[in-house]
Amino acid sequence: MQTYQITPVGIIHSPYKQKFAIPRQPRLIPEAKAQLELTGEFNREEFVRGLADFSHIWLIFRFHETAEKGWSPLVRPPRLGGNEKKGVFATRATFRPNAIGMSAVKLEEICYKNGKLWLELSGIDLLDGTPIIDIKPYLPYSDSLPNATAGFADTRPETELEVCFSEQAVEFCLKQQQNHPDLYQFITKVLKQDPRPAYKKSKGGIQNYGMCLYDFNIKWKIENNLNTVLEISHQ
Ligand code: SAM
Repeated sequence: MQTYQITPVGIIHSPYKQKFAIPRQPRLIPEAKAQLELTGEFNREEFVRGLADFSHIWLIFRFHETAEKGWSPLVRPPRLGGNEKKGVFATRATFRPNAIGMSAVKLEEICYKNGKLWLELSGIDLLDGTPIIDIKPYLPYSDSLPNATAGFADTRPETELEVCFSEQAVEFCLKQQQNHPDLYQFITKVLKQDPRPAYKKSKGGIQNYGMCLYDFNIKWKIENNLNTVLEISHQ
């Protein structure tokens, strides 16, 4: 079988510093902003000429964090509670042959910063440092299929947990207004979607968690479908 070598065209700078709590698909959290840095020979205006006319783009990327961990023909989609197995090609699982992912995200702006070309994006579902293999414009006339059906993944996941913040957490967000005006809303949306692994969701009692967004450590507890952000601190 022929094999191919691929050179990434860019790298993602994302607020998601670990896999835990990243939404399962793009655009579920519009406040998730990221920068795509075009790298090496691809950091030239010619490559993106005309792209600013498109509101959304496809990112083809490598699941770099899990790529070396292998794959299996059957996976357990979290949406099915982790109990049922489906063929990997019937899912968007990260553990797959070639470890290639695709996300349609909003293109906010193309700009020059520090002498380099950057694509400002929002609604991303990608880990910081994700290598981008290719970028393509999203074409509504062809890519949008309103009558398509999607089996076990037919509807948008609608977990809407309650979220509240401690006094310290509110004050922390207020202090970040200048650099991260959406921080409160961003954390709220991440927690609303209930990032816990499927097997933890059915467990009762108080559960404590932590995650990293930007360079902030966020600690929260969940009890009876209520998330409480306990403390936010700098790393
Ligand atoms: N929208 C893409 C797709 O359909 O190919 C990704 C779907 S995949 C289910 C989304 C998950 O991939 C995220 O929740 C996160 O846990 C994981 N992820 C994101 N970036 C990754 C990376 N660079 N390496 C490994 N896992 C990653």
